[in-house]
Amino acid sequence: MNNQEKTQLKKVALITGGSRGIGRAICLRLAQDGYDIVFNYRSDEQAAQETKQACEAYGVSVCAVSCDVSDSAACDALIQKALEFGGRIDVLVNNAGITRDNLLMKLTDEDLDRVLEVNLKGPFYMMRAIARQMLRQKAGHIINMSSVVGIIGNAGQVNYAASKAAVIGMTKSLARELASRKICVNAVAPGMIATDMTAVLSEEAQEGILSQIPFRQMGQPEDVANMVAFLAGEQSGYITGQVFAVDGGMSC
Ligand code: NDP
Repeated sequence: MNNQEKTQLKKVALITGGSRGIGRAICLRLAQDGYDIVFNYRSDEQAAQETKQACEAYGVSVCAVSCDVSDSAACDALIQKALEFGGRIDVLVNNAGITRDNLLMKLTDEDLDRVLEVNLKGPFYMMRAIARQMLRQKAGHIINMSSVVGIIGNAGQVNYAASKAAVIGMTKSLARELASRKICVNAVAPGMIATDMTAVLSEEAQEGILSQIPFRQMGQPEDVANMVAFLAGEQSGYITGQVFAVDGGMSC
């Protein structure tokens, strides 16, 4: 096989929030599957370098970019950079997300705005920026990270639940828009996964959530990454506009 043929076979995945937690597990899983990886992160340079090196150990090329997904122009620039790096983008995983939890009466305007800016506007900007390229390719997989909380709600997470429910509406609508070109748009809804995001919960809060999970245990980032890998691959080519819970039965 010559270099040109190798380049043609190469697939490229772009993952937002890839430096830590679920995003890192997705980067590693897709690198293991042979994708060249572009990921972004906001500020944790050391975590980003660790993820980059771990992916490179699978023999793929990796590009790590620091930028904030709540910035529309930065999302355009990220897509541009990914295209310069890989020539194409086969898979976009909108994973970056934050929480600003509190009871409704204590949530500030800023708590609402920031969560919507990152969790909702971020994926919107990324999908808008990539749509033309995927239409041109007549192929592509977009996978949006929602949450079980966007399906069943959760006290203390009104702002976060709103953002994650909105991601589902956005996923289903874009799936319809892009279906004629065989571009798949799906969402994954993790339950309680062991990452920095959930490590900050009090023991009492963790116990409370565990009691709602039929499996009675937290999931691991790799559990979510396995689902993303399936949705990114050719075997999921007839699946679009769907939401896949990875939650130990929490939403069933
Ligand atoms: P973590 O907090 O562990 O990691 C978040 C990642 O997103 C980091 O790489 C972080 O980069 C990046 N990030 C945060 N804000 C921005 C931003 N504005 N722009 C670019 N990158 C950003 O989160 P998890 O791995 O736990 O969560 C990943 C996704 O899964 C989120 O969308 C979350 O809502 C969702 N989810 C998580 C669940 C869980 O139980 N953990 C359950 C359900 C859904 P940096 O470190 O540089 O800030």
